[in-house]
Amino acid sequence: MQSRRASNTGKTRFRILIVLSSLLILSILTGWFFHFKAGVVEKFIKIQAAQSNNTIFYDIKNQPFHIIRGQEDRKYKKLPYIHGNLQKSVIAIEDSRFFKHFGFDPIRITSAIFRLLKWNASVHGASTITQQLVKLTLLTPERTISRKVKELLMAVALEMEFSKKQILEYYLNKVYLGHRNYGVENAALNYFHKSARNLTLAESAFIAGLIKKPEGYSPYSDLNKARKRQVVVLKRLRTLNWISVKEYNEAVSEKILIRRRRESDLRMAAYFTNHILLQLKQKYGHRSVYGGGLRVYTTLDRDLQQKMEQTIAKRLQAPKSFEQVAGISIDPQNGFVKALVGGVDFSQSEFNRATQARRQPGSAFKPILYATALTRGLLPTDVFIDEPTPYTNLTLLENEEEELEVYEPTNFSNEHLGPITLSYALRVSNNVVSVQILDKIGISPLVRTARRFGINIPGQQGLCLALGCGETSLLNLVNAYTVFANQGKKNEPVFILRVTDSTGKILEEYKPQKALQVLSEDQSYQMNRMLQNVVNYGTGRAAKIDREVGGKTGTSDGYRDAWFVGYTSDLVTGFWIGNDDNKPMDGEVGGRTPARLWKALMQQLPKSERGQEFGINENFEDFEICDTSGKAATPWCPQKSWYPLKKGLEPIEFCDVHNEPNLEIQICRVSGLLASQYCPIEDIESKKFYEGTEPTAFCNIHTAEQHLQNNYSEEEHQQSTNSNYLEMEIY
Ligand SMILES: [Zn+2]
Ligand SMILES: [Zn+2]
Repeated sequence: MQSRRASNTGKTRFRILIVLSSLLILSILTGWFFHFKAGVVEKFIKIQAAQSNNTIFYDIKNQPFHIIRGQEDRKYKKLPYIHGNLQKSVIAIEDSRFFKHFGFDPIRITSAIFRLLKWNASVHGASTITQQLVKLTLLTPERTISRKVKELLMAVALEMEFSKKQILEYYLNKVYLGHRNYGVENAALNYFHKSARNLTLAESAFIAGLIKKPEGYSPYSDLNKARKRQVVVLKRLRTLNWISVKEYNEAVSEKILIRRRRESDLRMAAYFTNHILLQLKQKYGHRSVYGGGLRVYTTLDRDLQQKMEQTIAKRLQAPKSFEQVAGISIDPQNGFVKALVGGVDFSQSEFNRATQARRQPGSAFKPILYATALTRGLLPTDVFIDEPTPYTNLTLLENEEEELEVYEPTNFSNEHLGPITLSYALRVSNNVVSVQILDKIGISPLVRTARRFGINIPGQQGLCLALGCGETSLLNLVNAYTVFANQGKKNEPVFILRVTDSTGKILEEYKPQKALQVLSEDQSYQMNRMLQNVVNYGTGRAAKIDREVGGKTGTSDGYRDAWFVGYTSDLVTGFWIGNDDNKPMDGEVGGRTPARLWKALMQQLPKSERGQEFGINENFEDFEICDTSGKAATPWCPQKSWYPLKKGLEPIEFCDVHNEPNLEIQICRVSGLLASQYCPIEDIESKKFYEGTEPTAFCNIHTAEQHLQNNYSEEEHQQSTNSNYLEMEIY
């Protein structure tokens, strides 16, 4: 009995203890939560009230050239000024039980956590409007479970503080709707050029559909996709019975007129700015960039940028077989990107063809190959023979059989030049010799050197790498050429000099890095001279201006890309033309439009800004060299040019292909053949020939038969000769 009572008492005590401690924990938790809630609400109100700031981009002279407007207060719309169509469209597609839940939807949360655990998948669609508002204002967009729990508690906090309608109003003014549009009023003005209070049901469904994937469903990139998404929203409205069948049908068949966004006043250098913007968004988040009031000091040279844009615009007015153009100018001394054009119209396409597109550079890549050749000990005077050169490669197929692959490079002209020097091969952009050079030095050294130049190419593409089959961006290609203009030293491209917040606090600042010595000064000097020959006498002649210029043309297989990169000592500029869909161009090559764009741009610059003369390298001395034999030129060499030769390595031999002809024979002046006994003495002359090039047949004009004939009609013959002579004198 006693023990039973005791045990009963024990049980009761235990129960009381449990209840008490539960109450204690609950009150602690409640206390903590209210403290937490007060913090959340305070922060939320502060963010809500904060004057939204513009992000401003400055050029290298500290002048603003581009402003990204924050959410302006006048665009903030109270709920009565947002059409009911839009309100219910957004609620229907994003959170149909919005008015019933308390900030979170237990069923959706559970499934979201489950999905996160299982696939680490995206949890979009699981969030209520309140949770999304928390994400838009209070949290960074990380997707972790602890983040999810925090978001949930914050959502509850907001629900306790604000009414449903207030939360909806905040949300509709905050939500991101693509193309830098925050809030429904901005979006309505942007896509339909009307206020959010005047939207039709069809337009409302269109905007509501954008929330899930603002850029993905953008009508600017794919109108069909955007339309399909709009119908999804309308169907959802119909399923919920929030619209009638009649309203649904009318909305689906309503013709929607999508408008282009309005450009703001300061929107210069859109592609340049957007390139920086993408980096800033990653570093500082959307909110800092759009409305956070960043001050971004860049390397942009406004004059050069405008001139580049004008040069391109002018060319676009003429007949053309290409849709897109890109251009970049870099200061080789420090890597500052001074001008950048990523396409013909940023409002039509934000894809940056200067930085994001990777395409085949064709022969514009050859300077990297030739530079590698110099580092492997080859000389500009080394001779290669341009003749049909097939390369065979045995590959083992899956079925154990062997396949013989034959690669035989051809020249652009489809002709062969015979023996030529390495320098001359680069000047005329000879393909066969370029592949021979790569075959000689090996693919790995080329891949390694290219990487040092900032160009990553996969080695397995094989010998075609010599001809630029490895893809690269214009930015990387142009920056690679800065090495030649900068005595072999390479800087990384620089866009940003300084970023501050709106109070002037420095968030990041450019510090000059030590440039990487990619080529020795001597090798760089030799490359420089060879690339000047390309512009002076070779494929880049269209880019010739009133000072020393180095450069190289490039045309990819099938006329899909045409490039020219040219430089003076102070400025490296490259242009690319082509089509986004890779459609071949009509007869366009690097030496045409791209080289002409380059020249047109340079000629617009004041003479003082076109660049100084390249310096002289004391280790070298110029010699006139035969481009065929690579030895000292003789008066009989048909193709010769000045080569810088390293002192001590001067040529001691004269050209042995075009030396003085040493075979002296008597020929007939009239026929050009060997003189015979019938040739008149006054027609016979002594002439020098290279052995093997002398005529071998006897004169076929002064023959035995003719000799006899002439003797019979000597008088006649003399008369006719005389009359001929007279006529000649008269005329
Ligand atoms: Zn010669
Ligand atoms: Zn003769």
